[in-house]
Amino acid sequence: METYTRICKESNFHLNIEVSSPFLTTPFWLYSTQVHTQLSNFNKNFNPHSIITSNFNDIINSDFHDFNLIYTDASKNITGTGCAFISGSVKKLYKLPTEASIFTAEITAIKEATIYVESTHIKKALIISDSLSALTSLLSPNPSNEISQQIINIIANSKNTIEFMWVPSHTGIKGNEEVDLLANQAISSTESTVINSLPYKDLSRIINLISNKQWQTQWDHTSDNKLKNIKKTIQKWRSPINTTRKADIVTTRARIGHTHLTHSFLFNHDEHPTCHQCDLPLTIEHLTLSCTKYNHERSILNFPSNIEEALGETNTDAIFNFFNAIKVSNLL
Ligand SMILES: [Zn+2]
Repeated sequence: METYTRICKESNFHLNIEVSSPFLTTPFWLYSTQVHTQLSNFNKNFNPHSIITSNFNDIINSDFHDFNLIYTDASKNITGTGCAFISGSVKKLYKLPTEASIFTAEITAIKEATIYVESTHIKKALIISDSLSALTSLLSPNPSNEISQQIINIIANSKNTIEFMWVPSHTGIKGNEEVDLLANQAISSTESTVINSLPYKDLSRIINLISNKQWQTQWDHTSDNKLKNIKKTIQKWRSPINTTRKADIVTTRARIGHTHLTHSFLFNHDEHPTCHQCDLPLTIEHLTLSCTKYNHERSILNFPSNIEEALGETNTDAIFNFFNAIKVSNLL
């Protein structure tokens, strides 16, 4: 938490963490969340949309004719993230932090709809969303997402009947089409209520981006560092798929430049070793680039002549081969 506060301060970034309540106030055997997903039997790519909408209307008329229908949806594009719900003539728009995931926006719309049902004492409500992942998160007795936890706590303690239904998006279901447009408008509308908190998962992604940026800047400003000659970015390098433990050790030690061959003198309190062929200090850089003893191996393997390429990411597979060819891989 201290690190989070410090990074927020340093990067002028002010978002709160959603309230977490992993232990529900009502035990799970005292309530059950109803998520209706009958429409998932119809693949929208293979069934005419008219069949899907008429099935939807049939389900509503037979099972939910006395329910208030509330449609929710979310939208995310490069300018921001928004969500909305519609209940009859009531339309509510919310603007989330740009960094919010689409899941967060969908589950927020469902939460706001649930809060609305409670505050207006709607006796029977059916909250309709096109996000299957958001709805199924409500079926878990202990979801990891903070907003899903909050919704479950509300419905578990509610005296009203609140149920949920999944519908496929863009299939002509009127309420869903309307709320889809509204969620899009919510990103830029001045009518939108601004939400300034995010679940931990979204925040940790942002914090990772910020701290990686800080780390890279620090590395950019580092001078006189042997490692930097080989690796300019903090990005993780790919590891070869079919590598052996031995090849991995040799490659890594060569890159770091600290090996038994070049550094065991520290343990033995000896002098720094010298290359007998060239009468120069024995270092990995010397062996890799300039030791005349290995000119032949370098030319056969077409080994790069600068340290950044020779020990860099693109040459990963060749590093072990080189030290093997010059017969020092067992000495590293
Ligand atoms: Zn040499």
